[in-house]
Amino acid sequence: MGSDDAYAGWQEVADRCFVHRYEHLDVSATVVIGNDSVLVIDTRASRVEGEQLAGQVRALTALPVRAVANTHVHFDHLFGNGAFPGVPLIAHESVPVDLPAHQARVKALYEAEADSDRDAVLATLVVPPDTAFSSVWALDLGERHIELAHLGRGHTAGDIVVRVPDADVVCAGDLVEESAHPSFGSDSFPMEWGRTLESLSELLGAGTVVVPGHGSAVDREFVLTQRLDVVDVAEQIRELSAAGVPLNEALARGRWPFPREALEDAVARGYAQLR
Ligand SMILES: [Zn+2]
Repeated sequence: MGSDDAYAGWQEVADRCFVHRYEHLDVSATVVIGNDSVLVIDTRASRVEGEQLAGQVRALTALPVRAVANTHVHFDHLFGNGAFPGVPLIAHESVPVDLPAHQARVKALYEAEADSDRDAVLATLVVPPDTAFSSVWALDLGERHIELAHLGRGHTAGDIVVRVPDADVVCAGDLVEESAHPSFGSDSFPMEWGRTLESLSELLGAGTVVVPGHGSAVDREFVLTQRLDVVDVAEQIRELSAAGVPLNEALARGRWPFPREALEDAVARGYAQLR
């Protein structure tokens, strides 16, 4: 390892598992260091941000980056992929399929933004994942075995979790959020998310460190509590739909665990998925 400066911004949440939480979009990237190589999990929201991350990884360790994993298709987790040339980019098989439409939607949104990061996002030539899997994948970083798994749909169609068994760490992407409510977007699966979180919770012990896509590391209790709220959203959507409440009245009628204005897509997606 390098000097103290090498650790600037990194938090070692468990043995050789480093998380960097960034101000822009409050997104986190994680680096897992083995005996002969390194795994980078998520690459931030633009090529420029990916390059900064790659530099911070090089400062942290002299070991080569064996692979990059993208926890899901969203731009703030993979637009920096191009900063890791020649490195396998691992993701769920739906990610390269869904990425062109997501990229177009994000760039259209940023076109209209006066955001200071606008130019960096728009200038990014997005490099899609080239190593896709359907349910499970494994990696060896040298005396350190990594498991990657798609436990089901939820925040998106292609959420994966990355598990470091020897350190008892799980990176959960945006299946779990700490600094904001779970994000139900127009590409979410609200009726399935709770079941996916149940599968995730079965991988967690009392001491497991869970790294969310946004916010501080959490534990199993936090995941179980957030799962109850996600299940509550789905159950209310199911009840409203079964009672014949029209979609345009459903949002106003529910007693939601999250702010109503954040659940417009959840209700629309839920109704569509129940039809
Ligand atoms: Zn996301």
